[in-house]
Amino acid sequence: MAGIYLHVPFCKSRCHYCDFFKSTKLEYRVQYLENLSSEIVDRKDFFLEKNTKIETIYFGGGTPSLFSLDQLFHLIKLLYSRYSVSDNAEITIEVNPDDLNREYLEGLKTIGVNRLSIGIQSFRDEDLKMMGRRHNARQSFQVLEQVFDEGFQNVGIDLIYGLPWSTAEDWLENIEIVKDYPLKHISAYHLTIEPGTKFGKEKLAKKLLEIEESESEKLFWQIHDRFKQLGFEHYEISNFCKDGFYSRHNTSYWNEIPYLGLGPGAHSFDGDKRYWNKPDLHQYISKGYQPGYSYEILSAQDRFNEKLMLGLRTGRGICKEEMKVRFNEYFKDVEKQVNMWINREFLKFENGHIRATRKGWFVIDGIIEDLFIV
Ligand code: SF4
Repeated sequence: MAGIYLHVPFCKSRCHYCDFFKSTKLEYRVQYLENLSSEIVDRKDFFLEKNTKIETIYFGGGTPSLFSLDQLFHLIKLLYSRYSVSDNAEITIEVNPDDLNREYLEGLKTIGVNRLSIGIQSFRDEDLKMMGRRHNARQSFQVLEQVFDEGFQNVGIDLIYGLPWSTAEDWLENIEIVKDYPLKHISAYHLTIEPGTKFGKEKLAKKLLEIEESESEKLFWQIHDRFKQLGFEHYEISNFCKDGFYSRHNTSYWNEIPYLGLGPGAHSFDGDKRYWNKPDLHQYISKGYQPGYSYEILSAQDRFNEKLMLGLRTGRGICKEEMKVRFNEYFKDVEKQVNMWINREFLKFENGHIRATRKGWFVIDGIIEDLFIV
């Protein structure tokens, strides 16, 4: 069982908050596709077990919807011809509302895409404009109508909260809109102002400030409570789903399932070693995939830290017994500290799992840092 991630590092323009790895030089797409295709072929024996079943394929970006249907179909066919893709594989594509129309959506369905992740970010025009997004709220509504008309069952959207210029009440209107659609998945990310972005520069010039931590926390729980009322499970700190529609692809990262990442900057994990491709789009376009750029063998300590970090960010938490059996040497070092967080009611032990309490979830990154073995 494994997953494949394909990176599409192109965007029409840069959103004001985004520091992801991408280029706005769309003319490189054709050459990029050629080199990505070669990488798919070159790395067909990446997985340690022969005929490893590929359960998830994920086109992420950047903006994968900047590839035409023919280009996407070419990649999907190539994957099916070189890897053992499961009959009910989850095939996700991240799409932006300004790239979509009925014909494109119908085409995505025809070529086998069965899960959409739509970069809505907000249903308020003011927010979209401030964030430098290329679509408006009207386009988002139109796209959602079309997506469900086309019969997509597994549809998620991304939202960004914690916007310094809008009030909590304004932002929470987004959730009231969401409830009108049969969406299965919501990713709600807090805005972070990264250095080097337009927002980063405005922050340096003191023109834009992040919202207060207490406001962030209040909003986090307002979002949690409202989505819960609407039947969504808050299964990971930034992710909500309905009816068990977790992102199978992302969940497999948390469950240490091997994955192959294709494209510049993409990471891979074969169950033993972690690899990463050089994050250099220009080199990738001119020379193609360069094998052997960098890798690390994960030690038991690395795996312990990773399990702790990924597990405690989920609603399920970490299984105490599993931690003891697999990592006793490390777990006994932190057990006292875990108990301290439990006594202070930031963590709790329930049904064999250690997980964050309501008080602890918002500050879970600090708790994880405290428990890390260095
Ligand atoms: S579309 Fe996505 S990847 Fe591209 S600049 Fe905007 S946020 Fe970043």
